Amino acid sequence: MSDLDMFNSLNLKKSEEVYRKAVELLPGGVSSPVRAVKPFPFYVRKAKGSKIFDIDGNEYIDCCMAYGPLILGHSHPEVVKAIKSQLEDGWLYGTPIELEIKYAELIREIYPSMEMLRFVNSGSEATMSALRVARGYTGRDKIVKIEGSFHGAHDAVLVKAGSGATTHGIPNSAGIPSDFVKNTLQVPYNDAESLSNLLERDEDIACVILEPIMGNSSLILPEGNYLREVREITEENDVLLIFDEIITGFRVSIGGAQEFYGIKPDITTLGKIAGGGLPCGIFGGRKDIMKMIAPSGGVYQAGTFSGNPLTLTAGYTVVNFLLKEGVHKHLNEITKMLEDLMVDRLPDHITFSAISSMFCVYFGERPIDYQSALTLDSSKFNEFFWMLLKSGVFFPPSQYETCFLSYSHTEEDVHRISEAITGCLREL
Ligand SMILES: *Cc1c(COP(=O)(O)O)cnc(C)c1O
Repeated sequence: MSDLDMFNSLNLKKSEEVYRKAVELLPGGVSSPVRAVKPFPFYVRKAKGSKIFDIDGNEYIDCCMAYGPLILGHSHPEVVKAIKSQLEDGWLYGTPIELEIKYAELIREIYPSMEMLRFVNSGSEATMSALRVARGYTGRDKIVKIEGSFHGAHDAVLVKAGSGATTHGIPNSAGIPSDFVKNTLQVPYNDAESLSNLLERDEDIACVILEPIMGNSSLILPEGNYLREVREITEENDVLLIFDEIITGFRVSIGGAQEFYGIKPDITTLGKIAGGGLPCGIFGGRKDIMKMIAPSGGVYQAGTFSGNPLTLTAGYTVVNFLLKEGVHKHLNEITKMLEDLMVDRLPDHITFSAISSMFCVYFGERPIDYQSALTLDSSKFNEFFWMLLKSGVFFPPSQYETCFLSYSHTEEDVHRISEAITGCLREL
């Protein structure tokens, strides 16, 4: 069955009408490229728990979860209550609130490497500022990123960038002066030797930034001692190490990948879960580095909405919930259950991997880096996407994204997801 046939058998009439207007007003009809599904996306009416409902009356089990932030599921009652109560007292003051300090203390307890931090409004802003302070602190211009990693949509990192940039075939964005990106160097993931050679060759490198687990070029796990080696190599060469934990933070364990793998970066970026589903970014790290940020130091960074009371309330509520309710135990159990259901039931050319509530179905061999991820069969995945949707399961619409489970997903959801996956793969 072609994409189009698949799609014709789902009733999406209202979504199609809305989309026709959308393309005239919004580039590609969307507010962020990852949402641009061909021939058009479904439009959401509401979402609750593990379910998302569209304007044509279809219901899906959500495995996209807004690309990661919603670890408790949609509109979790405790978060709703907290946001409502903050709303009554106002939502933006332009002057500090105590919750900034309470939340910062909590984060430092969970992430001891983040001795000092700043709240910003998105993950992109967090990585942009982290890179700036790394450059300001070291007085060096160059940065190293991993091929296929995604750190947001700003100039320094849109080179061989994953996520929507790879999905839409524009990993190197137009509109970025070549003079900007000449300072962005790249090495393959899971290749400590290339990194070591690069850092030894070049004296002008401020930092290495990486997603400890790659979640934006499909899902790619670190092999062997890779992350430990990266830590050693950066230390030996006196180069700062930035862990972009915007996906992995609070997810692979409460203390992120740095806790999970026992590695201490110099700077960390958080986002997604950290704002409980409201726009958020956080960057923080060693005190001597973070003291460089204005107004205590000369690296400028500012924002009208930074430390937003609603965002902090939602984030603080979610993180406290994660601490007390055994959420990760449930997440690990249902993820393991899905993995067990998948094993032995996948056709030859399909692979699968999962790590604490993140999972991915690969159309090809399980990748170890960007180059191998590029060999996956993206167009087959797109067919699979529509078949799943028809079976009532919503995956992120690209082979280059990761699927997420939440605390709201039940064992029954997992059975239905597993049945849908294996059923669709059989038909493909
Ligand atoms: C989502 C993401 C970002 C960007 O965060 P935004 O809030 O979308 O700006 C950065 N890094 C990683 C690893 C991400 O997954």
